[in-house]
Amino acid sequence: DHPGSATFLEALNPAQLKAVTADPSVPLQILAGPGSGKTRVLTSRVAYLVKHHGYKPMQIVAVTFTNKAANEMKKRLTSLLGSKAADALVLGTFHATCARYLRRYGQLIGLPNNFAIADADDCKKIISGLLKAKAEIIRASQMSLKDSGVLSEISKAKAKEEDPEGMAVRAARDPNTSTSTLAIIAELYAEYEATLREANSLDFDDLLVFGLRLFRDSPRILESCRHILVDEFQDTNTTQYELMKCFAKAHGGVSVVGDPDQSIYGWRSAEVENLNKMITDFPGVQAIHLEENYRSTGSILHAAHSVVSQDRNRIPKNLYTSHPKSTTVTLKVFSTPVIEASFIATEIKRLIAYSGNVLNHGDFAVLLRSNALSRNIEAALQKDSIPNRVVGGHKFFERMEVKDLLAYLQLADNPNFLPAFLRVVNVPRRAIGDKSVADLLAAAKAEKLSPMELSESIIDGAQLPEGFKPAMKKNLANFVGVVRKVRRAAEKRTPVAELLRVIIQKIGYEEFLRTSQQDFDSRWENVQELISFSVVVAEEQRRSMSETDDGFISTSTLVNPPEAESPQLIPQRLHPMFRRMSSGSTTTVDSRPTKKRKRTSTRSGDDGVIELLSSDDESAGSRLMPAGDGRDISPAGQVQHGSMTPLSFFLQTSMLSTDTDSEKDIADQPKVTITTVHAAKGLEWPVVFIPAVEQGTYPSYRCTEAHEIAEERRLLYVAMTRAQLFLTLSHCHFRMMGGEENDKSLSEFIISSQKKDPASFSASLPEIDVVVRTRIAAMLGRPPADEAAIKEAIMKHVRAAPPLSMWDPPEPRDRQFNRFARREVTKAARAAEYWA
Ligand code: ATP
Ligand code: MG
Repeated sequence: DHPGSATFLEALNPAQLKAVTADPSVPLQILAGPGSGKTRVLTSRVAYLVKHHGYKPMQIVAVTFTNKAANEMKKRLTSLLGSKAADALVLGTFHATCARYLRRYGQLIGLPNNFAIADADDCKKIISGLLKAKAEIIRASQMSLKDSGVLSEISKAKAKEEDPEGMAVRAARDPNTSTSTLAIIAELYAEYEATLREANSLDFDDLLVFGLRLFRDSPRILESCRHILVDEFQDTNTTQYELMKCFAKAHGGVSVVGDPDQSIYGWRSAEVENLNKMITDFPGVQAIHLEENYRSTGSILHAAHSVVSQDRNRIPKNLYTSHPKSTTVTLKVFSTPVIEASFIATEIKRLIAYSGNVLNHGDFAVLLRSNALSRNIEAALQKDSIPNRVVGGHKFFERMEVKDLLAYLQLADNPNFLPAFLRVVNVPRRAIGDKSVADLLAAAKAEKLSPMELSESIIDGAQLPEGFKPAMKKNLANFVGVVRKVRRAAEKRTPVAELLRVIIQKIGYEEFLRTSQQDFDSRWENVQELISFSVVVAEEQRRSMSETDDGFISTSTLVNPPEAESPQLIPQRLHPMFRRMSSGSTTTVDSRPTKKRKRTSTRSGDDGVIELLSSDDESAGSRLMPAGDGRDISPAGQVQHGSMTPLSFFLQTSMLSTDTDSEKDIADQPKVTITTVHAAKGLEWPVVFIPAVEQGTYPSYRCTEAHEIAEERRLLYVAMTRAQLFLTLSHCHFRMMGGEENDKSLSEFIISSQKKDPASFSASLPEIDVVVRTRIAAMLGRPPADEAAIKEAIMKHVRAAPPLSMWDPPEPRDRQFNRFARREVTKAARAAEYWA
């Protein structure tokens, strides 16, 4: 037997045990709240079917909502059943499972088994092509059809098994038939399908549709499947539901778990109704409810419940915990997102220090409504050297749209910067393909110019290098025009927000994103966030300049003789990445009066002060440090910041924000997770922060209809129920969008739940003794024997120390306390073991 396998049934409560051991021939539906062990039950049931009913692993199909969840389940089952058995299970998302069967049996429905899977990009390209062919008709009937819109319509159809004919029929019922948009989409749908088939390819939705076709056509291939188990069932769509039915058909073995309160994918065609449908489709469904939550403290559950129960159409259900009530959920308000983010960073450090390192970075998560919100959080964590990762997406400065726009700015700032040229010379598409680019590079090399300079000279009338088609000049015109316009504007110190707007408008970037990318909304929000960021940076530069006039001695005059500032030594036009490598010998010094400023200078973060003073070091005024180390130097501290153009200053700040050198060495170290709520489904962390709990974010400004608002409320509920020990919600008075300050107010969801239940949120931060206590209990699997003693000792210490305000940097007494707490924890653990 394998480790853990003997006890897996013992680790279940009676209701869970009943669910795990329920008769496999009776369809099972487990409806239960967050953290009640649904996923644990499903995993245990797989193990139980193998160990006690003798099912072969290959006879069991387990479906998860994400690949990540599948990996976790596999890990757990490997420890319960061994890797050989775990590998033999059919375990994965619906998509992955269908792909697996189609590869093997696709020929049965005429699908060659070497079919390709078309990704979102490929699909866009196909639709764009088809739309072009129909441009006349579309224009004549004054429709506005975008390929993303068409694709999403097609995807919706596939999610409910509607084929092109079905859609055409639906369109025909439309009163304005002949020209209805839907009729055109139905035609496009048919052509799109034909194109995919011709290319021997399937799109993602097709994996489900073809899977379904295969299983209905040849049910015999599923005869080996004795049981199907589905996690997160509330978020399945109609096609997935039908697939489940196919799997269950042969032997009737089916177990699903779900929670209607956590259905958050309605916008992607999920049908929470499938839960009811199952009751009619599978006579004799056994329903089991799990009511004990093992994840969260009483306070967290209470606050989360006060939010979700505002939904009047919701079916009430019980959820209790035997965990202590513990710290009340915190609700904080800040004036701006920068301060909010810096609070989160400080709070993470505080909790780790106070817990005596019982908590580590991996215990923290920041959950966001949309991924554009991550920029401030990333910046604040990076500033405090807190290791973090953005899960389910890229870090802000690595996102395609952000990098594209930065590349245009970089080219305007420095025409020699080749990576930027290569990135955007053909973005949006200008018929400058790989071959043309290679030719440009070669020609530029021959003429000892950079390709950007060569391109400019071509536009200025220089002869086209040999072998170039005349069209090249035309193709380059827009590109060169934009870069030059921006360069000229930048030289006149035009604000970067304005430069960005010019680029976006001149290259038609909004349209480009809309038509070539699937997640337009989120990408467009990132573009707006980049504009906002440029406004913040401009403000930072302005402030740092006025400070220099303010009686502070300029950093540069002290250290560097004037010639050292000349562009040769610190080439302003050089890409910051190169500047960092080449400027190791340059030194700057913070010569400002230290006493008055030191606190704010290390904390506030947006005032552009060089951070080289430790808070207790009064004599540091003469310390030197290399300017090359981007992590320790605020960009504004760069020599000559006052005379930099806003563009150079902005680029420098942005590029320093992308610094990830430090993270490479700590790949295995625990990291703070930054992720969207959607991607956090099913997961849990000891400490969770939910920033931006504002109107316009929860619910999103895009949601107007009642059912959409209800889904937004559930989204906040899912976010809150990820927390185990501490949950902090926060909101701001102002938030910038697209470079403009907007007034913000607290989310209506929180306002109404506070009205009903004023005690569910408080403004005070968690006391640490609870962390230590709960963590020790978790480590030992039971409360420590002398719990009262630990608590008393820790409380004594906490009381003896003056309260740490959130603006105070960790001080030596923290380190002292750290050591103290760690000692106490070890002692307590030993004592507990001894007494046990
Ligand atoms: P969600 O709805 O968020 O997906 P869930 O119902 O799937 O939640 P799980 O993730 O399975 O809940 O369990 C939540 C936490 O509770 C996990 O850490 C799990 O290990 C723990 N847990 C579940 N059942 C028990 C139990 N009987 N005893 C101790 N811990 C348990
Ligand atoms: Mg789960």
